[in-house]
Amino acid sequence: MSLMYYKFNFFAIFLFLSFGLSSAQTTQKHSDSEELFNEKALLQNIRTLSSDAFEGRRTGTKGAKKAKDYIINQFYIQNVLPFSKKYEQPFTFYNKGKRFSGTNILGYIQGSQYKDKYIVISAHYDHEGIIKGQIYNGADDDASGVGALISFAEYFKNNPPKHSIILAAFDGEELGLQGSKHFVNNSIVSLNKVMVNLNMDMISRSDKKELFAVGTRFNKILKDVILNFKPSENIKLIAAHDGQDGLENWTYSSDHLSFHKKGVPFIYFGVEDHKDYHTPNDDYENIQPEFYIESVKTIISIFQKIDLLNF
Ligand SMILES: [Zn+2]
Repeated sequence: MSLMYYKFNFFAIFLFLSFGLSSAQTTQKHSDSEELFNEKALLQNIRTLSSDAFEGRRTGTKGAKKAKDYIINQFYIQNVLPFSKKYEQPFTFYNKGKRFSGTNILGYIQGSQYKDKYIVISAHYDHEGIIKGQIYNGADDDASGVGALISFAEYFKNNPPKHSIILAAFDGEELGLQGSKHFVNNSIVSLNKVMVNLNMDMISRSDKKELFAVGTRFNKILKDVILNFKPSENIKLIAAHDGQDGLENWTYSSDHLSFHKKGVPFIYFGVEDHKDYHTPNDDYENIQPEFYIESVKTIISIFQKIDLLNF
């Protein structure tokens, strides 16, 4: 092949590709494969929140405050409003005789059809902090859920929900589900207007590519949504860990319990515990980016189905 011929062909291919790509982009806008959120931004958010600069985000520390400011800024950028006058819902509690101050972060998006009915989408932003000089970064637990919360915010900017949404980044989860307890006991909306809580805690890694959906045994409508849902071939969605299948019962494992205790239907999304669970090695380097992106896509797609319902 001569250089001349090569150059000509290169130009032709370039032309073909540019036309081909631009028409593909036009059609893609109307197809199901439209990107729900920016995947790079999702990875950037989990990476930042689980970096050493955030010092493990232990409730009441400057690392937790830094995480809080970061999340509020992301909500603001994505046009998420504060739920009441401020994004922050401060609270205090005691753990092992010690008094703590925590702060939930609550964002609000008004529904287009069911303004007075809420879906609370939650994840906890606190983690273990620094123990014996080692930073527990909590990338999977639960920077992964908070990253997903920010992707939800971005998704809602282009896809207004039918129900009103509360995006809740809870504090104090690791110290006894404190933020979600405070939220349900001091909720600014009455809890019988909360249709469902979707809680995400540890969703970024699974060697078996398994994402579990917990809580469907308490609600037939939600059970049908999960059982009829067809995830992509890169992920398995399994309704389990409900306390009836011989597996560990995860009804009590994270903030969804606070909603469950008040009779609010919930689905908790999470993965099996892994070797880095609650160790200083729960780092960004050990998450599985492709699985994580699939998880978040799956959860947003399930949200789309639930948002069509009214119960
Ligand atoms: Zn957690």
